[in-house]
Amino acid sequence: MNTSKQQHLFEPEPTAWELAAGKDQLTACVVFNRPVETVFHYLLPDSLRDIAQPGQRVKAPFGRGNRLVVGYCVGLEPPPETTRPLKSIESVIDREPLLNAEMLQLTRWIAERYVCSWGQVLDSVIPAGVKKRAGTRLVNSFEPASGVCGKLSELQLPSKQKAVMETLCTAQTPMKVDELCALADCGTSPITALRNKGLIRAIRSRSATFQDDTTPVPREPDLELNTDQRVAVDNIVQCLREMKHRTYLLHGVTGSGKTEVYIQAIREVVSYGRQAIVLVPEISLTPQTIRRFRSRFDSVAVLHSHLSEPERHWHWQQISQGKIQVIVGARSAIFAPTPHLGLIVIDEEHETTFKQDTTPRYHAREVARERARMERIPLVLGSATPTLESFWRIECGKDILLSLPKRVAERPLPPVVVVDIRNDPYIARGSGIGRALFSSMKLALQDGGQVILFLNLRGYAPTVWCRSCGEGVKCPECDITLTLHKDRRIVLCHFCDFEAEPPTRCPYCNDPGIRYLGIGTQRLEQEVRSRFPDAACLRMDSDSMRKHGSHDIALESFRRGEVDILLGTQMIAKGLDFPNVTLVGVVDADTMLHQPDLRAAERTFQLLAQVAGRTGRSHRGGRVLVQSSSPEEPAIQFAAAHDYFGFIKQELVHRQETNAPPVRHLIRIILRGRHEEELQACARMAAEKLSERAKKVDASEVRILGPAPAPVSKLKGDYRYHLQVTCSELEEFRDIWQSAAIRETLSHGVECMVDVDAINMR
Ligand code: ADP
Ligand code: ZN
Repeated sequence: MNTSKQQHLFEPEPTAWELAAGKDQLTACVVFNRPVETVFHYLLPDSLRDIAQPGQRVKAPFGRGNRLVVGYCVGLEPPPETTRPLKSIESVIDREPLLNAEMLQLTRWIAERYVCSWGQVLDSVIPAGVKKRAGTRLVNSFEPASGVCGKLSELQLPSKQKAVMETLCTAQTPMKVDELCALADCGTSPITALRNKGLIRAIRSRSATFQDDTTPVPREPDLELNTDQRVAVDNIVQCLREMKHRTYLLHGVTGSGKTEVYIQAIREVVSYGRQAIVLVPEISLTPQTIRRFRSRFDSVAVLHSHLSEPERHWHWQQISQGKIQVIVGARSAIFAPTPHLGLIVIDEEHETTFKQDTTPRYHAREVARERARMERIPLVLGSATPTLESFWRIECGKDILLSLPKRVAERPLPPVVVVDIRNDPYIARGSGIGRALFSSMKLALQDGGQVILFLNLRGYAPTVWCRSCGEGVKCPECDITLTLHKDRRIVLCHFCDFEAEPPTRCPYCNDPGIRYLGIGTQRLEQEVRSRFPDAACLRMDSDSMRKHGSHDIALESFRRGEVDILLGTQMIAKGLDFPNVTLVGVVDADTMLHQPDLRAAERTFQLLAQVAGRTGRSHRGGRVLVQSSSPEEPAIQFAAAHDYFGFIKQELVHRQETNAPPVRHLIRIILRGRHEEELQACARMAAEKLSERAKKVDASEVRILGPAPAPVSKLKGDYRYHLQVTCSELEEFRDIWQSAAIRETLSHGVECMVDVDAINMR
C-alpha cells in the first residue's frame, strides 16, 4: 500500500513554519489551571529541548500581560498552523514527569467528560505535597573527578585530604558529607579543600527527610471461602487471567463477606507483581479496616485526607516505584500512580462521597471504570445497596452481577419493625424517643446489649421559628434555617458556619415568641441521659468529633463495652461491626425522605439498610426499630423487608417514567451572583442560548429545564439559579455547551459551574 505515489499524494504541504525552522522541531503543548479548555503551544528554547517531557510542570508566559504562570506540559507536537508568533517556555520545573502517559490520558478524559479544563484536572489530581516535594531536601554527594583515582599515589596531599580521596575512590559511588566524614574520620574542611582543587565533584540530589514508621501488623491467613464467595472470586480471577476489562457489581448484604472476596482477588493480582487500588469512603478508613488489609499483605499504603504533605509525597513515590501492593484510600486514591495496576475495587460504591463536589466534579466510580478500561483490568464495585446507576448497567447487560445473598455463618438479617409515631404519646410531648423505642431500649440494656441510635440532624434544635409570623429564622447569608447549638449558646448556619447569639425576638416581626423546634443529636443526647441515667451514653457527630482520631477512640470505647448507648449522625451508620449491638433505633426515618432530591427515596432506603446492618452480627441476634411519620412509604417498607430488588425495580420504573438518571444523564448548570436580577437575566440567556444551539444541531434528545432558583437559592451571600439538562449521550451535551460559550458572555460577577451527572441537588 505504501507506494511512493500514494505517499506523495497524501503528504501535506509543508507549512511556512516548517520551511523556516526545520521539521524536527517540536513545540510543547501546555495546559493551565484556568477555566479555559485550550491547549497552548510554546516553543522550546535549545536549552530545554532535551529536558522537557509530557507530565512535567513548566513556567510559561500566559495571557495578555505575559505573566509567568505554572502550567503542565501534556505533549510534544509539531507546531500548529498559525501565523501568530509562538511564545517560549521559560523553564521546566520537574526533573521527572509527575504523571505517565496513561494518567495524562485519564485526566484528559476527565476534563472532557466533566466539561472542565485539562489543567484544572491535573492541578487537582497531583497532591500539593508532591508538587512541593514535601519531606525531601537537596543534599550534596561527592565523587572523585574523572581520572583522579588512577593517579592517587602521585598526588601530594595532606593526610586528611588523602584519607577522603581514598575513601571515595574505594567506595565507587557518590557519598554524602556525613557518610564521608565518618568513614574518613575528618571534618568538612578537607572536603571543601579537595573541591576547591577540582579533585572531587559535588552532585546535588534529593533525599527524603520523611520516613514512614508504621508498625507491622501480625500476618493472618486467608479465610476459607464459602460457595458464593468462591464463585465471585473465581469470576474476577478468570477476568484477571484473560487480561480483559470487565466491571463486576458485587451485591452482598452487610456482613456477607465482600471484603474477603476483595482480599482474595487481590491475592491473585499481587502474585503477578501487580498492584491493586481499593477505594473506600473516608469514614470507613477505620483502624479495623486498615488492619484487615495490613494483616494480609506485605505492603499496604493508606491514603486518607489527614496525611501531611511529606507523608503524601512519600506514599506517592513508594507507589510509583512499585513498592506498594495494595493502596487503600478515599476518593482521590483512584489517581495513585501505580506502575502496573491489576485491579480496582470500590467498596460501598453507593456512597455519595465518591463524587467530588468541587471542580473537577468527577465521580471516582466513573474514573475507575475508564482507568480499568484503559489498563484492561477488572473493576469490582461492592455494596449492600448498589446505586440505581450501577444496577441499570446490569439491566442493560453491560456489567456482571455477582451476589452474596447470605450473611457469613448463616446469621439472619435482623428483623426491622417500623413504628408509626403519628399518635405516639411521648413524641406528642416533644420527645425524640417514642414509647416502643423506649421500652425496646430498656429491654436491650437489661439484657446487657448495646444500643445504637441514629439521627441525621446535628445540633440541638434544627429549626428556629417565630410563633407570631410563622417564619423560620434563616441565615442572613444563606437560604437555610438556623440550628440551635445549645452547648455553645449560638444559632449556627450549617452551610456557611455563620453564628450568632440565639435571637430573643423574631428578626422579621420583632415578636418575642421565638421557638426552637425539632430534635438534633445534642437534644437527643440530653433526653437519653435523663431517661437512662444509669447507661453510659456517647454522641458522635461532626461537632463532638472535631479532632482527628477522636472518631477511632470513640468507636474503640464502644467496642470495649464502656459505652451502652451510641448515638449519632450518618457517621455511625456505615461499616461498623459490633457483635454486642442488639438494638438499632432510627429516630426519624423521614428526614431524608422529604428532601427536594430525585434520589431521596434511594438515599432513605440505603441509609435504613446500612443502619440495619449494624446489628445482628453475632449469635446474640438483634433488631431494628424505625420511627416514621410516613411508614407506608415504599422506601421504608422495602428496607424493612430487606428487599433490595423490590425497591430497585419499582424505583427504576419511576425514574424511567420521569426520564431521570440513570436512564438519562442529568447535568446541572448552576449560576451564582450577588445581584438577583442580573443573575436571573444571565440564567435566562444561558437557557436560551443552549436551546438555540440544541435546535441548530438537531439534538432533540437534549432537554433543557429552567432556569429556576436552585433548591438552596442563596448561599454565602450569593443568589443561585440553576438549569437542568438531560440527555442520553454526554457528547451531545458537550457539543452544545462548548459551541454556546456561555461563560464568555456572562456579566462580570456571575459565576457558572457545570455538574455532569450531578448528585448534589442543592
Ligand atoms: P462485608 O464486607 O460484606 O460487610 P465482611 O467481609 O466484613 O462483610 O465479613 C463479615 C465478617 O465475616 C467478618 O468478620 C469476616 O472476617 C467474616 N468472614 C468473611 N468471610 C468469611 C468466611 N469465608 N469464613 C468465615 N468468616 C468469614
Ligand atoms: Zn449561612
